[in-house]
Amino acid sequence: MISAFVALGANLGDPKAQIGRAVAALRQLPNSRFIACSPLYGSIPMGPSDQPDYVNGVAWLETDLTAHELLDETQRIELEQGRVRKAERWGPRTLDLDLLLYGDECIHDERLTVPHYGMKTRAFVLLPLFDLAPHLVLPCGTALHTLVSACDCSELEPLTGSFATPTP
Ligand code: ATP
Ligand code: MG
Ligand code: MG
Repeated sequence: MISAFVALGANLGDPKAQIGRAVAALRQLPNSRFIACSPLYGSIPMGPSDQPDYVNGVAWLETDLTAHELLDETQRIELEQGRVRKAERWGPRTLDLDLLLYGDECIHDERLTVPHYGMKTRAFVLLPLFDLAPHLVLPCGTALHTLVSACDCSELEPLTGSFATPTP
């Protein structure tokens, strides 16, 4: 099995509940084992600022799915939870699931870039990932803690009691 990390984000509807439902759906993925969800954080939107704050976290899985099969599944979950694809980049959404890491693989094609191109500078990704896997080293050889130290995490707000426990 390959270890994979998926970034979770939502800022429409009831974002915390949506993240919880996404975690429940990730637990059901075929040929996969759900390891853990990070604590959740509140974050100020990237891009257009006339939108609600985000709730963000990271999920850790082990999977026998290929990276593209995993992307198929996460895009299916996004659509099932009401994600509407709009032209506006970084606009509000009910759910965003981004594949951050897929083992040590580096993938770059028209559908998928792994490691996710933005993960090295996004506090709302780095901090929850660090909560889950503090000793992680990226495929490029950079230690996660180095990226976390270099990142401004001051606008990230830990949400208390926020473990995204799935509904039974
Ligand atoms: P960003 O990628 O900057 O976080 P976004 O998450 O809002 O922005 P989306 O609209 O969710 O962007 O995805 C746009 C496209 O990105 C998708 O159609 C998908 O094929 C592609 N993509 C490339 N790499 C990845 C990845 N690692 N995880 C998820 N989608 C990816
Ligand atoms: Mg995204
Ligand atoms: Mg996305």
